[in-house]
Amino acid sequence: MATVADSKQSALVPRPQVRQTQCFIGGKWIPAASGKTFDTLHPATEEVIAQVAEGDKEDIDAAVDAARAQFDGGEWSQMNARDRGRLMYKLADLIEEEADELAALETLDNGKPISDARAADIPLVIQCLRYYAGWADKIQGATIPIDGEMFCYTRREPVGVVGQIIPWNFPALMVAWKWGPALAAGCTIVMKPAEQTPLSCLRMARLAQKAGIPDGVINVVPGYGPTAGAALVEHPGVDKIAFTGEGTTAKIIQRAAAETVKRLTFELGGKSPNVIFADADLEAAIDGSHFGLYFNQGQCCCAGSRLYVQSKAYDEVCDRLASLNSQRRVGDPFDPETQQGPQVDQAQFDKILKYVEFGKADGAQLLTGGKRAGDCGYFVEPTLFAGVTDDMRIAREEIFGPVLSVLKFDDVDEIARRANDTDFGLAAAIWTSDVSKAHRLAARLRAGTVWVNCYNAFDSAAPFGGFKHSGIGRELGEEGLRAYTESKTVTIKLG
Ligand code: ADP
Repeated sequence: MATVADSKQSALVPRPQVRQTQCFIGGKWIPAASGKTFDTLHPATEEVIAQVAEGDKEDIDAAVDAARAQFDGGEWSQMNARDRGRLMYKLADLIEEEADELAALETLDNGKPISDARAADIPLVIQCLRYYAGWADKIQGATIPIDGEMFCYTRREPVGVVGQIIPWNFPALMVAWKWGPALAAGCTIVMKPAEQTPLSCLRMARLAQKAGIPDGVINVVPGYGPTAGAALVEHPGVDKIAFTGEGTTAKIIQRAAAETVKRLTFELGGKSPNVIFADADLEAAIDGSHFGLYFNQGQCCCAGSRLYVQSKAYDEVCDRLASLNSQRRVGDPFDPETQQGPQVDQAQFDKILKYVEFGKADGAQLLTGGKRAGDCGYFVEPTLFAGVTDDMRIAREEIFGPVLSVLKFDDVDEIARRANDTDFGLAAAIWTSDVSKAHRLAARLRAGTVWVNCYNAFDSAAPFGGFKHSGIGRELGEEGLRAYTESKTVTIKLG
């Protein structure tokens, strides 16, 4: 493995300037009412990059007031749908103009390799905003043939003020997934970014203002979950909460939201099965499965962390995955050659190493990694366990790091049962050259997304979300938009 210590760095991408660190409420940049701030760190060096306003209940109250004013009769509520769409296109254009800077900000705050931020995160942000901009003037109801001399139709109206709580693994992309459908539908927004990664969200709020989105439509309150996040969930002026994060947090939110009967959409964790049949194009399957787990330092809710390989191909797959890990360039995320950066923070780093110990203690065979890489920053070596069985903790619980477990299987019925033997149901993948087998198994897998002969194939038009404990509702696509609308039935008795 080319690690932090021994990698020869190519020309580093310059670090971006941090410009926005305060709350963005009603179009104004303001410190937290308490005057408190929190540090945000660069995970590769553990140095403090900026002090960010630590919002709490008072700031959330002000942000909800601003969002309500725009929703309840403000400029935004009166705007033609087509004009909303134009402002969203403008925001996407401004992000495109600043793509390199935004990518660098993402690398600074999250630690992800600059090449990933440039090739994946920011292009997907732009695509998502443009996709939903196109929807703004295409949200339609229906006419309904009811009995009698009646005219009945439905209107799809915005759900109202939405509270959006996002995680740190794809900070800018999660902003786009949340703002896109909300703005298209005509909602107004109070967003709480993750405390680890508030910077790109704040930058995007600045660009939204520059694009001409009226003040108060988008408000951002950085801060912690149990304070700012909880205040947003409890606020009676918020109509819906859209949350992405951990299942344990989702349960707290669901209980608290019950008091005000909020609409909820959740995108939560996973332990996604990735199934390689021996008849697959093995080279593609191995590369794709490696990407399916190690991309973004393994910090993906849909990571293919349970890799099931049919017995005949098992040894070859393990050998080649180990060899890919040994060549993987782990190091400075500002180096364009780097393939793996640090984990986001100390807590994630500790959790991953704890699971490595669980894997060893439960009898799995450690083929690569298992240790810290370098001596500074939250780097973990790409880790591969073979000989994993379904009952081991590394095969059952979400690790959210660069740790892949390889399991063995023999036939289709067996794999359908074992793949579904989990409380999660976010994603799954199948690698085979037999199309019928792929369709049959795809129908049997209890997961919101099934990829066949690919992994992490995301598109803003394709819904994404979880079965079972992996979520409620869907994001992206038309389904993601509908989750930001209410249906109203209007029935008129004809005279
Ligand atoms: P992760 O492991 O991704 O940090 P979390 O669920 O802890 O998962 O965090 C995701 C988001 O939820 C973050 O923005 C965090 O601040 C927020 N959050 C955490 N706890 C709460 C809570 N009790 N109420 C509302 N939001 C919360």
